[in-house]
Amino acid sequence: MSTAVQDINRDAAGSAEAQRAEIERVFAKQQAYALRLRTSTAAERVAKIKRLKEMVLDRAEDIYKACYEDFRKPEAEVDMTEILPIVMEANDAIRHTKKWMKDKRVRPTMAMLGTQARLHYEPRGVCLIISPWNYPINLTLMPLVSAIAAGNTAILKPSEMTPHCARLMEDMMGELFDEQEVATFQGAVETSQSLLAQPFDHIFFTGSPAVGKIVMGAASKHLTSVTLELGGKSPVVVDKSANLKKAVGSLVWGKFANNGQTCIAPDLTYVHEDIKDAFVEEVKASLERMYGSIDGIENNPDYCRIVNNKHYGRIKHLLDDARERGANVVAGGLHDDAQDFLAPTLLTDVDREAEIMQEEIFGPLMPILTYSDVDDAIADINSRPKPLALYVYGKDDRVIERVINNTSSGGVGINTAMMHYLHGNLPFGGVNNSGIGNAHGEFGFKTFSHERAVLRDRFSSSFLMQPPYTPFTRKLIQWTMKYFV
Ligand code: NAD
Repeated sequence: MSTAVQDINRDAAGSAEAQRAEIERVFAKQQAYALRLRTSTAAERVAKIKRLKEMVLDRAEDIYKACYEDFRKPEAEVDMTEILPIVMEANDAIRHTKKWMKDKRVRPTMAMLGTQARLHYEPRGVCLIISPWNYPINLTLMPLVSAIAAGNTAILKPSEMTPHCARLMEDMMGELFDEQEVATFQGAVETSQSLLAQPFDHIFFTGSPAVGKIVMGAASKHLTSVTLELGGKSPVVVDKSANLKKAVGSLVWGKFANNGQTCIAPDLTYVHEDIKDAFVEEVKASLERMYGSIDGIENNPDYCRIVNNKHYGRIKHLLDDARERGANVVAGGLHDDAQDFLAPTLLTDVDREAEIMQEEIFGPLMPILTYSDVDDAIADINSRPKPLALYVYGKDDRVIERVINNTSSGGVGINTAMMHYLHGNLPFGGVNNSGIGNAHGEFGFKTFSHERAVLRDRFSSSFLMQPPYTPFTRKLIQWTMKYFV
């Protein structure tokens, strides 16, 4: 059990130096143990994942409580967005780890006749998983499932902004694993930086693009490989051919679940100008259907809170700045500084220079922009960093394909928002500013594995081309060249 680590984590007087020393000690233990895990069997890995899954299910009440204490997240959303994704990821790994681990035969190329080749999936070794606060349990334990399936040890660094969830995970992992296999370190930037100073074999970071750059910089000191699951402004295009009621239902859920604090939440919403008024009315109606009157939403238990006052202030500033620059608040706008509460808020006529147009919103504000030609929406999307997701609503396939083929994003949802995250057979990841690498299912297994090329010579003739380069070897090399040119 990770008793020593837990003591350091809990020791309020525990200095940064003491924690650094503790990190070094645990890291060294994990390095030694990682070598033993190289030869772990599928059955051993699956047994651990089963225990992790059972622990998550057994401690569901504690998870509800921690999520509520951290940001009043409703139980239904905890089930759907924290517990269920972990259980699904675990089930996938339980079923398929054996198959994923198997070496994959590769056909010989012409130049390689007489050889046998295969891909061998070796564990990366000691992995660091740094997670954000917005889906605190899910975004820590889902990558851990992949790391275990691939045969690694892991150190977890949950976010300090959701301390109840962070402590709960530390307790759960402490019960399940010895610190040589999985350890948890609590803390903020300093803790992260002490961890990043270690020569990890892989770092799996989920968080903002700004911190992603710091993580990648630190990783470069040891040439540690990284997976960066970042964020961005995931745009939405609503074509006039869309089934408005269905489209808006999915968008409103995607936008306001978790109070908009989702990496793939719809951000800038581009609506065809012919349907703008109908769209705005439908969003209001859909909000009423889901949450009752917007004016009374403060007391609705299905609507969670902004995580803390710092983030509340940031989002409120985005709203104030947009308003000062002439934006119209067509619904919502109610707020309560003491409660970190901001109602779902729809904005139109937003100035291009407003901060809400540049920064990832990560909160319950929905700026509605209009276009008459979809190419204008595409050009605006392309003028910004590549987002993590892009959503397009409509029935006209030409418009849908035009948007997809002329833009770039980590993933795409057509007539759906956020659901691609839950599809275990699709990779989940970003592109450039929204991330590097993939998570989930077999993609997650590969992320935490080194795909090793193994070539075995059986009866190849390559030795005939070795020195001394006699006239005969020269001829042979020339014939070979001719064959390939
Ligand atoms: P963040 O980048 O501020 O923090 C993430 C983690 O990094 C935390 O554990 C934090 O303690 C640590 N950290 C913060 N500053 C650091 C520093 N200077 N050096 C080292 N470590 C540091 O992100 P956040 O506010 O927790 O989460 C919100 C961001 O995460 C958004 O941008 C969102 O889009 C993104 N996100 C992405 C995904 C995804 O799967 N792609 C999922 C959720 C959130």
